[in-house]
Amino acid sequence: MVLAQLGGSISRAIQQMSNATIIDEKVLNDCLNEITRALLQSDVQFKLVRDMQTNIKKIVNLDDLAAGHNKRKIIQQAIFNELCKMLDPGKPSFTPKKGKTSVVMFVGLQGSGKTTTCTKYAYYHQKKGWKPALVCADTFRAGAFDQLKQNATKAKIPFYGSYMESDPVKIAVEGVERFKKENCDLIIVDTSGRHKQEAALFEEMRQVSEATKPDLVLFVMDSSIGQAAFDQAQAFKQSVAVGAVIVTKMDGHAKGGGALSAVAATKSPVIFIGTGEHMDEFEVFDVKPFVSRLLG
Ligand code: GDP
Repeated sequence: MVLAQLGGSISRAIQQMSNATIIDEKVLNDCLNEITRALLQSDVQFKLVRDMQTNIKKIVNLDDLAAGHNKRKIIQQAIFNELCKMLDPGKPSFTPKKGKTSVVMFVGLQGSGKTTTCTKYAYYHQKKGWKPALVCADTFRAGAFDQLKQNATKAKIPFYGSYMESDPVKIAVEGVERFKKENCDLIIVDTSGRHKQEAALFEEMRQVSEATKPDLVLFVMDSSIGQAAFDQAQAFKQSVAVGAVIVTKMDGHAKGGGALSAVAATKSPVIFIGTGEHMDEFEVFDVKPFVSRLLG
């Protein structure tokens, strides 16, 4: 179910409940079941959806609500809060500061949009007056360095990489050192991916992280991966200290559910979303406006 449909389904469920003359247990259950169905169809993990339903029922105790209470409002608010809670891990991620050197390491599977997102992230900050730089520590995929080089050149962002060197740790360390010397304030390390989760990839991530000591590890996830989102995000979190998530390909047929699951798996917030292939198709992610928009 695409994001707009998810929002439509949830709004409809709330509307139907609002139209009922009396809000009793059955009306509330019908509404919650409808929302549950919509969330599951959008690939939100089953456990998250079940927890949400339990929480809402705990908050909205119809027996305890005196006749004067506006039950509709209370239920609507509870649904809104629970959706926000699913997307908010409760603590903000590390935020780099302009003028102070930060190293940000990007991790994610091949095809997730990692390299594209590195440049978007750099470009976003450059427009705000930062001095970003890109390091290509992806020695696994042929053409990765060329892709980063092309993107970086287009955006006039300094970059570092090698056609010859096969050790990603060495390149990452060299790149970070060089850009520290050049007083760049946002040193972005693009790393290798694999088509699927494999031990070799996670070992490599551990080594690059150990050697470059990033201030922030950003996990990049394709929004269309469906129910696999939770496991994938958790696997990365277990290898490196993922501090925030960027969800890509939120344009077109994007499902919202993956983002909710990634937050739960990494206990980290989504900070940006990718909304297209171009450099500026990149948005800051804010929980409340996102949920408000979802609920129409
Ligand atoms: P990597 O293997 O993870 O480094 O992935 P790439 O950066 O090479 O991206 C894989 C494909 O996804 C490319 O064709 C990108 O143009 C595309 N892509 C990346 N982000 C987005 C996005 O937000 N929306 C859309 N529609 N495509 C994207």
